[in-house]
Amino acid sequence: MDEIHIKQLEVFAHHGVFPEENRLGQKFIVSADLRTDLRKAGLADDLQLSMDYGAVCGEIQEFLTRHTFQLLETAAEQLCTRLLQTLPLLRSIRLEIEKPWAPIGLPLKTASVSIERGWHTAYIALGSNMGDRKAYLDGAVEALRKDPSMRVEAVSDYLVTEPYGGVEQEDFLNAVLRVQTLLPPHELLDALHAIEQAANRERIIHWGPRTLDLDILFYDDLVYSDGVLNVPHPEIPKRTFVLQPMVQIAPFFVHPVYHRTMTELLEAIS
Ligand code: ADP
Ligand code: MG
Repeated sequence: MDEIHIKQLEVFAHHGVFPEENRLGQKFIVSADLRTDLRKAGLADDLQLSMDYGAVCGEIQEFLTRHTFQLLETAAEQLCTRLLQTLPLLRSIRLEIEKPWAPIGLPLKTASVSIERGWHTAYIALGSNMGDRKAYLDGAVEALRKDPSMRVEAVSDYLVTEPYGGVEQEDFLNAVLRVQTLLPPHELLDALHAIEQAANRERIIHWGPRTLDLDILFYDDLVYSDGVLNVPHPEIPKRTFVLQPMVQIAPFFVHPVYHRTMTELLEAIS
């Protein structure tokens, strides 16, 4: 991906573990690689289609002087989040913050923290078979839309699905959505669990069937398994109620394990 580079922007700010650092302040040096697609801006010679590095430098300076953090790690983390949330064209960023006057009582040229953060594409399955099922799905979509670390890009139609397995229970309402997220996979799962729990807490007194189930289907083209999280969700190729809405919003998305599109996977089971 194309990059815009900011090298060694100097900012006088007050971050540090020692109280004197917070009181007196010191020099910080910020460098950033901003990843984006510069093709359109390059063809049109139009700043509106790119990121104004002057404005980005202003934003960095403003952010680092307005806040006081103990750790460079926190300053870097929060600054990355801020830039990714406010610059619509920014896909990912590598940010380094140096502290050339770090008060460690030894001569050093500089100490620094460098991190890389960005937007990731995730597909999420939504399901409900209890109570006001549409309201639960609507609520989940709304909760994701409100979260500043998410950008909901596409939501499928809601699909009525008969439960299988012969157990006597209500029909399911299912959907999938595509989201851009700043959260790494486990944090995304935690965020989904929090939305599930909020739905359950509000309406349900007794233990019962789940009002809301949110699953991570895909996270970029990640293939990952541990005790807590399996990505891609292992049941996808068997589930019409996932593949049908996936075909609606992402027919050509290729399953990173089976190397088949959503359309091909759906055809294989129907
Ligand atoms: P199910 O979704 O199978 O009906 P749950 O929602 O209760 O059941 O999920 C049980 C556990 O599955 C979760 O606590 C979570 O840790 C784990 N899990 C593993 N992979 C995923 C995934 N891709 N999406 C959501 N949960 C997952
Ligand atoms: Mg689940």
